[in-house]
Amino acid sequence: MYKYETHCHTSPVSYCAKASVAETVQFYKSLGYTGLFITNHFLDGNICPSVKLLPYIEQLNFYFADYEAAVREGERIGISVFPGVELSYKGTDFLIYGLDKCWFQEHPEIMEMKKTEELQLMMDSGALVIQAHPYREEHYINHIRLFPRHVHGVEVINSSQKEEANEIAAVYARHYHLLETCGSDNHWAGNVFEKLRSKGLKPEIAGMYSETPIVDVRDFINKIFSGEMKPFLQDEN
Ligand SMILES: [Zn+2]
Ligand SMILES: [Zn+2]
Repeated sequence: MYKYETHCHTSPVSYCAKASVAETVQFYKSLGYTGLFITNHFLDGNICPSVKLLPYIEQLNFYFADYEAAVREGERIGISVFPGVELSYKGTDFLIYGLDKCWFQEHPEIMEMKKTEELQLMMDSGALVIQAHPYREEHYINHIRLFPRHVHGVEVINSSQKEEANEIAAVYARHYHLLETCGSDNHWAGNVFEKLRSKGLKPEIAGMYSETPIVDVRDFINKIFSGEMKPFLQDEN
């Protein structure tokens, strides 16, 4: 069984993340994971604010620097690191898998597009598009928004969310016959269990496992579509 984190954040790229790239990669290695996707908040989300003043290409260089550092740390200690992106629209978030830095360099127009058009372009370009934690409620989210016609799937277990929010996400996904993914939304590396406990949540992280290792992001996407990636939850022990 090969375990993967599908949703995690690192500092300094994600402004809300409390853990460095090295701490994050080392944490998953210590838990016996085979790999992780770095899904930092994109330029439309909670990225370090001073960076938003830079030209698009320089913002991308900053954005991908954490992922590139994670790849190097992963090679050093022996864990696979894959690229992902978390897009934001007024607090409604989307996990994007399968687009690399080159793709984003060639598509500056995404910054001006309507979210539905942007998501469609990404899917047309071969990306897997998942709405993250669709029933999350926070003070900074005016209302819940759903995009059943512009995503492939839904994150039905996000271990940083309340159980009720995940339960209804699963009902939503099944009603629309959408794919289902699971992840932790870890912003804290090894302090994640303590952090979840302090928020009144179960101290568990969520991920997906496969019977054969993921070769690359395309292989991950194929395994998601074929149902070969299965959900799991893991506690501190
Ligand atoms: Zn965040
Ligand atoms: Zn996230």
